[in-house]
Amino acid sequence: MTSRIKEIFQTGQPDQSVTVQGWVRTKRELKEFTFLEVNDGSSLANLQVILEPTLPDYENVLKTISTGTAIAVSGNLVPSPGKGQNIELKAAEITLYGDCPPDYPLQKKRHSFEFLRTIAHLRARTNTLGAVMRVRNACATAIHSFFQEKGFIWVHTPIITANDCEGAGELFTVTSLDLKKPANFAEDFFGKRAYLTVSGQLQAEVMAMALSNVYTFGPTFRAENSNTSRHLAEFWMVEPEMAFCDLEGDQDLAEAFLKYIFKFVLENCPEDLQFFNERIDKTVLSTAENIVNSEFGRITYSEAIELLEKADRQFEFPVEWGVDLQSEHERYLAEELFKKPVIVTNYPKTIKAFYMRLDDNNKTVSAMDILAPKIGEIIGGSQREERLDVLIQRMQEQGMNPDDLWWYLDLRRYGSVPHAGFGLGFERLVQFMTGMTNIRDVIPFPRTPLSADF
Ligand code: ATP
Ligand code: MN
Repeated sequence: MTSRIKEIFQTGQPDQSVTVQGWVRTKRELKEFTFLEVNDGSSLANLQVILEPTLPDYENVLKTISTGTAIAVSGNLVPSPGKGQNIELKAAEITLYGDCPPDYPLQKKRHSFEFLRTIAHLRARTNTLGAVMRVRNACATAIHSFFQEKGFIWVHTPIITANDCEGAGELFTVTSLDLKKPANFAEDFFGKRAYLTVSGQLQAEVMAMALSNVYTFGPTFRAENSNTSRHLAEFWMVEPEMAFCDLEGDQDLAEAFLKYIFKFVLENCPEDLQFFNERIDKTVLSTAENIVNSEFGRITYSEAIELLEKADRQFEFPVEWGVDLQSEHERYLAEELFKKPVIVTNYPKTIKAFYMRLDDNNKTVSAMDILAPKIGEIIGGSQREERLDVLIQRMQEQGMNPDDLWWYLDLRRYGSVPHAGFGLGFERLVQFMTGMTNIRDVIPFPRTPLSADF
């Protein structure tokens, strides 16, 4: 039976006979024997394999094995005298799956993340990208188990949509028209112009108005030409929506949600997080522990503006009541002032989406953003406007035609209830968790302006 390397580190005993399969990271030839470091992606640590000259066909086996070679090794586990791992594998038999010529791009030296993006088909074999993918998996698992434990229903919202009115960045058009001719979308596949979704929220609201508590977790798309370290053209979003819930309940859920995910990853990926803490950002572990153990700050937008006005520094973008918070402001609040995540609520209605509930003062809406150290906005949410007349008026104020969203308005006509939800950018979460500075390095195949390879 074959074992994964992670399993061997966890439960392997001396003298146990095992077979492992993986890729050779390094080969070290000494006089009496040869050491291989083998990795199968299940763990950060490599399994050390010892080849002795008594191995059948030793000389030839040695010649065919190099960095990148795919092999299976059978043999007995032995206690490891070296530091680091407690156990290693003494090879009795080696099977070669695929050899690996010397032009293999992942030779032993350290490569820049920029270079690794040009070989995204191979980069998951590096320590960092392998650890990112395992942490990403743990985050996704934590998200599902959090909501499932709380009885939320996972709903699948569409990727193709004909709503262009959400206003969240630029849209990609989906078409089957012959692009050599002038576009007439009435003749297009759906009989009108269609797009890749920027968010599943409106449809999640529909489902919440029947199932009470739901969440959607899937890919979303924005053709924003902002070449930043925090924006992708294709990214995953988690969007819970709760009926019978107000802004406070929304903040409570979001805070419990982030705490759960960090705790889960701390418990399930300790080595990977330790690695990020040592190699990428020395605050990864303290930040994660801080999230799990601290109570998030909660302030209104108006309070945030006051704090920013009092700040002993010049911001590139000046602050006054009514402006949107820029990344520098968000980071100042979370990183320097609070030193932990802060939830900012009740933003001016002019800078927020039409569906957010209008506050009694007629100036602000029941929005909430969670600002995190290093990342800035990680979650954006709100209590939704459940009053039909107010919603219609807000749409008109923003130059939208209410008829375009007749089905969304119907929810306010037929058994409307207070409800709230939020959106979490999944890659921003993984960035936050790992300390990776560029969002392109926390998704297997990044899509960004001028780049959709692999
Ligand atoms: P930002 O101001 O950072 O562009 P936004 O206001 O456009 O964010 P929302 O429309 O509120 O973001 O989207 C919900 C969440 O999705 C954000 O809080 C963020 O975590 C994430 N997000 C938004 N745009 C992107 C993107 N292009 N790539 C990756 N994640 C994104
Ligand atoms: Mn944006």
